Amino acid sequence: MASDLGPRAMFVAGGTDLFPKLKRRQFEVDALIGLDFLSRAIHRGEGETVVDAGVTLAAASADSDLRTGHRGYAEAAGLVSSPPLRNAGTVGGNLCVDTRCNYYDMTYEWRKAAGFCIKKDGDICLVAPSSPRCWAVSSSDTAPMAIALGALITLAGPEDERELPVAALYHDDGIDYLAKQPAEVVTSLRLPAAAGTRTAYVKLRRRGSIDFPIAGAAVAMRLDGSTVTSCRIVLSAVASHPLEATEASEFMIGKQVGEESVRAAAEIAAKPAKPLDNADLSHFWRKRMVRVVVEQALQRAIDQSAGFEG
Ligand SMILES: Cc1cc2nc3c(=O)[nH]c(=O)nc-3n(C[C@H](O)[C@H](O)[C@H](O)COP(=O)(O)OP(=O)(O)OC[C@H]3O[C@@H](n4cnc5c(N)ncnc54)[C@H](O)[C@@H]3O)c2cc1C
Ligand code: SF4
Repeated sequence: MASDLGPRAMFVAGGTDLFPKLKRRQFEVDALIGLDFLSRAIHRGEGETVVDAGVTLAAASADSDLRTGHRGYAEAAGLVSSPPLRNAGTVGGNLCVDTRCNYYDMTYEWRKAAGFCIKKDGDICLVAPSSPRCWAVSSSDTAPMAIALGALITLAGPEDERELPVAALYHDDGIDYLAKQPAEVVTSLRLPAAAGTRTAYVKLRRRGSIDFPIAGAAVAMRLDGSTVTSCRIVLSAVASHPLEATEASEFMIGKQVGEESVRAAAEIAAKPAKPLDNADLSHFWRKRMVRVVVEQALQRAIDQSAGFEG
């Protein structure tokens, strides 16, 4: 159906992001293709866990094996929006959720009065008028954690099925932010065995009860005694894609954990984050807070016990 109908059709899973955006006329579609048929099971084996795309965020965050073996992922799922939206919102929908911007996530009337922008109906970026691209912000909470864990997704298209690292699902572009084909459906998320891996997700937002992230850090790390043997840090809500802090992750490897190394890594991680004035609160403050959320996420990962002993 999706390949026959082309761009005038969209998939809908929980509808928690799509329906408000349809009301605000951010998308114009003739057909919605319901994804209710997607499985809602969580499969386990040899430490790895496969979460079907139809699983709700509430179910993922409450799943006892995920909370033990992939704790940071369960934490991230449990921090998305609010309880009613987590009861409807799905794992697949959270990975594919639209990028956000203060000038775009507004009613049609507001956008018409302010002037439309290139993400919808206009020809200029209102945040960076001299820029030819859109800087809308990647705002998924679970995507950075899935990337830090080295997770893979399965995509089912009209012709075949393929597996892709979650990291390869995103483009650094506020409009064309997904690297999948439009007719491909995310059917599952494979979280690799994380024996001995410590994970944590820290999210900053105005209201803890509902808001999207305005900065966030996902960490997956392994220790041998107090020496870091592997580390992956991925930032949320500071770019048009989940931003991997590669330099900081590499810096941590081989270091002894402690206040000094954590603080230095957080400084390095914050450097590539360049929030613009298109999300909640001041972008100068958000930039300063990136260091803080990374520091907190690293410390939380260090303090907790590792996932599934192994
Ligand atoms: C007030 C409010 C607060 C929110 N706060 C947060 C937040 O803090 N963090 C956060 O991450 N999100 C937040 N959201 C957005 C949304 O609720 C979540 O991202 C949710 O997980 C989306 O999942 P869904 O199943 O409802 O997706 P839908 O709304 O159904 O779809 C979202 C997008 O993904 C596509 N899609 C859905 N499933 C698939 C699939 N399996 N394969 C391919 N494409 C698919 C749809 O076509 C659509 O483009 C918030 C939304 C609201 C209204
Ligand atoms: S970043 Fe610019 S083009 Fe993109 S949604 Fe915002 S104002 Fe529009």
